[in-house]
Amino acid sequence: MAYDADCIFCKIIRNEIPNTVVYEDDVVKAFLDITQVTPGHTLVVPKTHVADIFGYDADLAAAVFSRIPKIAQAIKASDPAIIGMNIVNNNGKVAYQSVLHSHFHLIPRYQPTEGFAMTFTDNSADYTPEQLQQVAAKISAQFSAE
Ligand code: AMP
Ligand code: ZN
Repeated sequence: MAYDADCIFCKIIRNEIPNTVVYEDDVVKAFLDITQVTPGHTLVVPKTHVADIFGYDADLAAAVFSRIPKIAQAIKASDPAIIGMNIVNNNGKVAYQSVLHSHFHLIPRYQPTEGFAMTFTDNSADYTPEQLQQVAAKISAQFSAE
């Protein structure tokens, strides 16, 4: 189990700093995000220190991701006012990651307008089908390079 002595989430996993746990097992810990973007906002973190999604292998991903539905379902079941949930995973500072220990935000949703919002800009007019094919081919080529 990797541990980073400078990492706030590694400290939370070891209960070296206060936290509000909702679930834990040998692979993950889920605790309330201190900001509570919406009530019940929970973070799910792997117990091993891994900075972001780029550091996962398939086994770690399978272990961590397999826990997420039951935690999401428990949050939803905890309050009938929850009618949806955003699951958000930021990777890299440019993508709004502020704590460099991988984590998944489970943000219960109660109404269309509340503490959380996402913007998806539609840039489809900027691409021809051929340009999209080129973008996809560049990514696809990486799998054969593995
Ligand atoms: P991100 O910006 O995706 O890296 O999210 C990091 C999250 O960690 C933020 O939503 C913070 O509110 C949360 N956070 C930071 N420190 C703590 C803490 N001590 N306890 C609970 N949540 C924390
Ligand atoms: Zn850590």
